[in-house]
Amino acid sequence: MNILVMNCGSSSLKFQLIDAQTEELTAKGLCERIGIDGSRITFSAAGHKKWSRQVPMDNHREAVRLVLDALTDRGTGVVRDLSMIGAVGHRIVHGGEAFSKACLITKEVKEAIAACSDLAPLHNPANLIGVEACEALLPGVPMVAVFDTAFHQTLPEEAYLYAIPYRYYEQYKIRKYGFHGTSHDYVSHRAAQLLGKPYDTLKIIVCHLGNGASVSAVKYGKCVDTSMGMTPLEGLAMGTRSGDLDPSILEFIANKEGKSIGEIINILNKESGVLGVSGGFSSDFRDLESGLAEGARALGVFALRTAKYIGAYVAAMNGVDAICFTAGVGENSAFMRDKICNTYLGYLGITLDEEANHKRGEEIVITTPESRTKVFVIPTNEELAIARQTYALVK
Ligand code: AMP
Repeated sequence: MNILVMNCGSSSLKFQLIDAQTEELTAKGLCERIGIDGSRITFSAAGHKKWSRQVPMDNHREAVRLVLDALTDRGTGVVRDLSMIGAVGHRIVHGGEAFSKACLITKEVKEAIAACSDLAPLHNPANLIGVEACEALLPGVPMVAVFDTAFHQTLPEEAYLYAIPYRYYEQYKIRKYGFHGTSHDYVSHRAAQLLGKPYDTLKIIVCHLGNGASVSAVKYGKCVDTSMGMTPLEGLAMGTRSGDLDPSILEFIANKEGKSIGEIINILNKESGVLGVSGGFSSDFRDLESGLAEGARALGVFALRTAKYIGAYVAAMNGVDAICFTAGVGENSAFMRDKICNTYLGYLGITLDEEANHKRGEEIVITTPESRTKVFVIPTNEELAIARQTYALVK
């Protein structure tokens, strides 16, 4: 069965068509600048030349129509007609406390996703627009919602509550939700497979280090803590997000610069993290690793923060069997893995295998056989995880 995996943002749409039985990627692509001048679709499929075209797309429905046309195109398409798409798996960012696993999308599910929009105002409405566009153009095809937050719904109360008046949790559901759940789920399961041990007997730390970054602690098969919070702004220093900071800084900057809370939150989301610490030099780790002092300063902050979260999660689980690096930086930056492990994690008995650490793009153990704790690089595959969860619900 072919599963179409959809990831809709406010002006973009990423898609993959995956054969659920063979788990092969049949086609993938991207629509950008939906509803803005200069909309563009890019499409690549096995056995065909990648192409990219500027085409007007006034809304997501038009974008989905173009994707379906591309998939079924006589010349460059990959399926005969739309009846060959068995189901659509949608990435939904926030499921609040309502969703602890993927589910078939019904009218009630859409209402519940809309009710979580308060918690993810930029993401959930866009995700829902994508669902509705697919429903209109693929009538009768089952739609499945896969939530970024679902994997973290096993967090115990002491991990998800903030130390603020309890009524804020009761009234507004202010609590830690966590994100990147599909990735943490996929990578922690792979680690258990690679260790050859049952998932529910292990203590695993997953470091998803990309432009957005988060760490999670998975103890005996359940996520028990994670670094992102009610929103993705909490936790690690990221590409452009600040991560943790003293909340009083908001008032201080507001007073100094006459800015509103909204404006400061925007700075914390878009102008901070390694971009901010490097004085606006770059949010891309390849640039930061080029040897300039601004880059080194930002990388230093990023590495220490990540190592401190790893330490915190060793404490939260009272031990660790494996640490996994994934996502753009985690998978590709030997420099960052070296800096985190060799500078800060010696107390866990970790010894890196330098040669293995310099390999790229493969699932690999990067510690020596003597290392007391194993460290893995495991390329994440959120789309495949979404396709698997979708297939499991519709087959
Ligand atoms: P992601 O959000 O997971 O797609 O990760 C994107 C980030 O990965 C980019 O912004 C880069 O900073 C980082 N990245 C990608 N390739 C490399 C590389 N070879 N070395 C260091 N960082 C990289």
